[in-house]
Amino acid sequence: MKQHTPKDGTKSVWSGEKAALVHGASQVPVVNSVAFTYDDIDEWYEVAIGKRAGHIYGRNTNPTVQAFEEKLRILENAEACTSFSTGMAAISNSLLTFLKPGDRIVSLKDTYGGTNKIFSEFLPRLNIEVTLVNTGDHDEMEEEIAKGCTLVYLETPTNPTVKITDLARIIKAAKKVGALTFVDNTFATPINQKPLALGADLVLHSATKFLGGHADALGGAALGSKRLVEQIYHYREINGATMDPNAAYLLLRGMKTLKLRVEQQQKNAQQVAEFLKNHDKVQEVYYPGLEDHLHHEIAKQQMTGFGGMLSFALKGELDAVRAFLPKLKFANKAANLGAVETTVGPARTTSHVENTPEERAALGIPEGLVRYSAGIEDISDLIEDLKGALDAIE
Ligand SMILES: *Cc1c(COP(=O)(O)O)cnc(C)c1O
Repeated sequence: MKQHTPKDGTKSVWSGEKAALVHGASQVPVVNSVAFTYDDIDEWYEVAIGKRAGHIYGRNTNPTVQAFEEKLRILENAEACTSFSTGMAAISNSLLTFLKPGDRIVSLKDTYGGTNKIFSEFLPRLNIEVTLVNTGDHDEMEEEIAKGCTLVYLETPTNPTVKITDLARIIKAAKKVGALTFVDNTFATPINQKPLALGADLVLHSATKFLGGHADALGGAALGSKRLVEQIYHYREINGATMDPNAAYLLLRGMKTLKLRVEQQQKNAQQVAEFLKNHDKVQEVYYPGLEDHLHHEIAKQQMTGFGGMLSFALKGELDAVRAFLPKLKFANKAANLGAVETTVGPARTTSHVENTPEERAALGIPEGLVRYSAGIEDISDLIEDLKGALDAIE
């Protein structure tokens, strides 16, 4: 008999929790324990060397954290998953596990601001060559990869102008030169995009955003083959960027509604994008669900939904943003994204706050660009709210 495989909505709710349940409880407990005790030193030894399942010390593993890893692993259809204190810890630890002096990495100009800093500030210090190509220019990327590299680092959709990279195409180019491909899947979430199924070697997440969904816990994850993830886990257990069990609990709880939230967020994002596109105070709207978006066709092919993130430039630039933002009632003006609440902020204070105005300009990010993370509110209220705030612009 063919085994039944549950779909993502069911997996979000049920997967990964069983091993952590105790006392007949139906919910995963927060195990606040730094260490785990053993009377039998032979058993202790076997757990310590990984021959037997169990936990030794909280920097390495914890039952609550393990349930988080297992739920996400099943959602991404990955062989293995390891977790981190933040998304940036997942990204930096994963890069440093594999890169060494003399290596070359090819990536995009508009990766997340923190990731961009690793490329521009920290990797060159280690004598690692970094080449950043214009995001969405697939020909340029293929040319740079063909020159030879150790690692190709992708993020799609990107932050904040929501550009899309054709994963299958770039992964193929990377494989040709024997390079690993890492994909930051934070914006798409496993509900909309499964990079491992398209041949990526590693998927990275800031669990802080859509996975947790409630803007109350930080976390990160790396997923891929057992061979790669075990090396990353080893680097992390020594370097110590471990996820806290309390954060793991909040993220696990948030993930139960992941599919529901993402579906509502992208329904709202689509309607907000269409409303803004026709508004006379708006210069430009960036959302892959719009038919005239540069990469609409690629997005349609590799994603099952266009996601909850969009951005738009106001005609009145920074002064317009100053008048507009405070008038929004149903939006947190904040640096995070992917929450149940609509969250907005200018790129200059959010994703690219680490960059200078000149650097932002070079990255194609206007100072008046507003990032909009659609929440799960009723769409009529979000549109009314936007109308009112846009009217407040001179
Ligand atoms: C927020 C974010 C990160 C960093 O995650 P933290 O949890 O804040 O460290 C990385 N990539 C993307 C795409 C993000 O949005």
